[in-house]
Parts: sequence; structure tokens; C-alpha cells
Amino acid sequence: MADRLLDGYDALLFDLDGTVYRGGRAVDGAADTIAAARANRTTVRFVTNNASRSPLQVAEHLTGLGVPAEPTEISTSAQAAATVLAERLDKGDEVLVLGTSALAAEITAVGLVPVRTAKSAKAVVQGMAPELSWRDLAEASIAINAGVPWVACNVDRTLPTDQGLLPGNGSLVHALQYATGHHPEVAGKPATPLMVESVKAARAKHPLVIGDRLDTDIAGAVATELDSLFVLTGASTARDLLRAAETERPSYVAADLTAITARAADLTIGPKPGWDVRRDGDELTVSGDGDPLDLLRSLCAASWSHGAPSRIAGDHPALSKLGLAG
Ligand SMILES: [Mg+2]
Repeated sequence: MADRLLDGYDALLFDLDGTVYRGGRAVDGAADTIAAARANRTTVRFVTNNASRSPLQVAEHLTGLGVPAEPTEISTSAQAAATVLAERLDKGDEVLVLGTSALAAEITAVGLVPVRTAKSAKAVVQGMAPELSWRDLAEASIAINAGVPWVACNVDRTLPTDQGLLPGNGSLVHALQYATGHHPEVAGKPATPLMVESVKAARAKHPLVIGDRLDTDIAGAVATELDSLFVLTGASTARDLLRAAETERPSYVAADLTAITARAADLTIGPKPGWDVRRDGDELTVSGDGDPLDLLRSLCAASWSHGAPSRIAGDHPALSKLGLAG
């Protein structure tokens, strides 16, 4: 089939948490789907905002979940942050690292020297580190107040864990913003450095971004002018999608990543067979029958072209399946 979604792109840039796996398990069909992409000679790359694990650790985690991956196929926000700093600093310059040894290793890899005090630091880099202390934040404040560049690996407000959503790197970045009045340059999604680096690493001319978060994965794709597939296996919901701002709207929508072997035309936002969506003022009325995802694609087209509707009328069973009833 020449019109499968994956046939239209030379690389697939997969987000990890909520896209390839969730809750410690690979998404159903992920292994076979990614194997199909490899068999098709489509470049596979995994792109993560997580700055606390090395590419080797990420690859081992994926492989352990049944999705074989090589460290060379991983792009992290730690790598992107190190690249941003390497462009700003001279080789051998010291960088104050708020983060794990994996982040420090990326700083070393670009010829900079990771340190843990502000004393002669020429920059600050900040990534998630569970053992981060007030002292670390204090050292960073000293350096930032002295005017050195400050790069945040990501500004994810929360970190999804087995115990629910816990404070992410963005929450700790906010603590420093609050204390210093300065704002960091951001490397990870939705900012462009990580997206640009992952495209470069994939040697891709026309890649597809695949992710579960509208405000990071899809916004990052839009900011980098890349096509994107939004999947409903993670953080953002069908309701979020209907309300998405123009800067967070994907090219395609599917239940999960297995859709990359489906027909591209079936996954686009737009009116779909079986469904009729009518607008009356700011209200949308649904009739018809078929795949609930097709209804979502139809609703998004109607909603986005006229501004978000205040409500969707009726109680069609497909609306409940999408979490859009009531
Ligand atoms: Mg995700």
C-alpha cells in the first residue's frame, strides 16, 4: 500500500511516554508497528524531553519493554541543551549543572566542563534531578544573577509517575524564575532546539512527529513546521484537541501509534464518511454512525474553522466514547 501514512515521510520522530509506552508497558502494537517502519526503511527516532536519563538508559528501557532501540536512535533534551550551550561558549568553559550525571555527560560530550558551583561557571543548565537541593538552586541563582546564560532542558510542569503527576523540571525552573526574575532559554519541546536536533540526527528531509501532548509534541512540530500525528494514548484528550489553539493543531489524529500503517487520507482532520456535523451559532450537532475517531476528525474541522464551540449538542454514544459527552 503506497498511501500508508509512514510512506509519506522519510523519518518518524516518536515521543516516548504516552506515545510508545505508558505506565511501564509498551502501547499495544508498538513493537510490531515500529518494526514495520524499520522494514520499510523509514528512519525511526525517539525524541524525549526527559533530561535525566542517558540515550543508553532510554534505549535499554525501550528494549526491555519489547521495542528494540539503539542509543544512536535517541534524542534527548539534555543533548539539545548541550548543543545550545556549545554554540554560545568556548571549549573548556565551565557549566553549572542542575541535573543528573546523564546531563553532565552531555555537557562533557560537547567539550564543556560540568561543575556544581557558581564560582567560575559561564552558564547554567537545568534538567530534572530528584536529589536537587536548595543549595543547588542557590548556586544557580548566584550564576544567573551574575548574568550568565541559563538553559532549561525542558519546562514540563509535571512528571508522570506511578504516584500521579509530580513536580517536573518546569516547576523547579519556575522556582529560579521567581527567585531571580530571569527566564531561561528552553531546549526541549515545544521549543525548537530539540526538534531541530532530532531532524538533523535522523538526516530527515520530511519527517513526521508523533506524540501525545498538544502543548509539547504537537506545538514543537508546528513551531518547526513539521507534520504531526496526535495519538490519544497519553496526556492530551479529545476535548483538549477540539479546543487546541492554532499553534497546537496536528496534521493527523489517531487512537495510537499503530495508525502509521493506516491510510494517511483516513487520518487527516476533515469531514469523514458516516458523520454529519452541523453548526448553529457556537453549537455543534452530530448525526451519523461510524468510527468515533472519524467523528473527532470531523468535529475538529468544524470547530477549528469557526473558533472553538461552547458545546456539542446531543448525547450520541460516539461522543461518550471520545469523552466529549456532557
Ligand atoms: Mg508524551
